Amino acid sequence: MKAVVIEFHQETNSFNPVVSTIDYFERGHMYKGEEISINLLDKPCALAGMFKALEESHVQAIPGCSMFTMSGGPIDQAVVDHFVTESIQIIEANHPVDAVFISLHGATQTTTYDDCSGFIIDSIRKVVGNHVVIAASTDLHANITDQMIKDTDIICGYQTYPHLDHFETGYRTAKLGLSCLLDENKPKMVKVHIPMIVPASTYTTNSDPFSTLIDHGKELEETGKILDFSVYQMQPWLDVTEGGSSVLVIDDAEENAKQYAIELAQKLFDMRKVFKPNLYSIDEVIDLTEQSKYEKPVVLVDSADSTNAGATGDSVAVIQRLLHKQSDLKTACVVTDAPAAVRAHEIGVGKTAKFSIGGTKYPEMHQPIQVECYIKSLHDGIFIQEGPAGRGMINNIGLSAVLQVGNINILVCHHIFGNGDPQLFRAFGMEPTLQELLIVKACTSFRAAYSLLTDNIYETETPGAASVDLKSLPFKRLPKDFYPFSDLDHYQVREVTLARD
Ligand SMILES: [Zn+2]
Repeated sequence: MKAVVIEFHQETNSFNPVVSTIDYFERGHMYKGEEISINLLDKPCALAGMFKALEESHVQAIPGCSMFTMSGGPIDQAVVDHFVTESIQIIEANHPVDAVFISLHGATQTTTYDDCSGFIIDSIRKVVGNHVVIAASTDLHANITDQMIKDTDIICGYQTYPHLDHFETGYRTAKLGLSCLLDENKPKMVKVHIPMIVPASTYTTNSDPFSTLIDHGKELEETGKILDFSVYQMQPWLDVTEGGSSVLVIDDAEENAKQYAIELAQKLFDMRKVFKPNLYSIDEVIDLTEQSKYEKPVVLVDSADSTNAGATGDSVAVIQRLLHKQSDLKTACVVTDAPAAVRAHEIGVGKTAKFSIGGTKYPEMHQPIQVECYIKSLHDGIFIQEGPAGRGMINNIGLSAVLQVGNINILVCHHIFGNGDPQLFRAFGMEPTLQELLIVKACTSFRAAYSLLTDNIYETETPGAASVDLKSLPFKRLPKDFYPFSDLDHYQVREVTLARD
């Protein structure tokens, strides 16, 4: 028996005006065949989990292709067509295959299709036919569409946020996929749709009430009531026609899966109004940092401009306020600004020059600043994550430079990757623990690493394509009667979609 293993990963922010092209994927990674075995199987990623499960079951694992990049604007459809063509070539070259295991993000939109994941799965199903098992792992923030459900046997999502269980999710997916292949009584999957989105920074699986829900699901698993569950809080900056949060439950008994899927989904829906942001203004955080004598750095969370959430990363709104207030706080931040990075390399290290910084990607949202800067250091942009999430993963932020404006250190780069990892500062000579103020453009993922460095973390009201104020964003495509645009006070979850037999 053999299974082809492939991966397509990008989280789309529909409000980011910059299309994610093939160049953007090259900044992540694009591996084929043995390159996957060499580069990924020793990393804590979903593909490695799938390979492990296949190895344990003595099913031959065939590495297909893996295209992975960080969040961003909708993907150029040509990129997805390329991935599908390459994947199909590998599947056909290994004919007959028994299973295809796919690692997806699941909240992905292209310039042509709202449901990129459904398009990929459907394209593969058409080639392999009905008898081949297709199992997919996804992010917890995926948008699980009916198309995805119709064409897959198994879908499993991360059960942690910040995401720490990539490997385990790949492993669960492959184990259940193998069960579909090898066991007489195949697991059944049920989906319940929930018409809601909430800001991604307002919950984690480390604290109530979301942790209670996840713990309840795990208890159902551990006591043998169900085989598997995934609770999806759709990433809230995805403006698509079939958007929504959802719950998937997998069990041998369909009625059981249905009952617990509805129970978990109703619990999630009932929590919706608790997921409210508690935001400080930029000035409040600057004042707090100046007035307090913290021994540890203050983290100003600029989640609205988080490239992790698909925003453009080119906001300098906080630096603007620091300059306006003539603050001398020792500050470190990272800004997407390719022209400034290239210019710094042209001028050279140790020189001083006037720079325009910020507003290069989303000028309608972000105004640049004009400042005299000292060029402190120049970099190729490649660094290794320290984790705990994704420890050992290699990131490439492109040609980059640290520019100093008084006590403010600004890392200008081509793209921000690895936002939640302290190495994004440390690897570029800005030791985070020696700063007074760290501007972190991330939602929740950063907490896994930063809560080890400091307790002083402030969610801040900043502008950007990943604003927590969802009602302020220009949604056009989401279904009607959808929270938070409607309160849905009398809504009961009910919609049950059964996966394929
Ligand atoms: Zn996520």
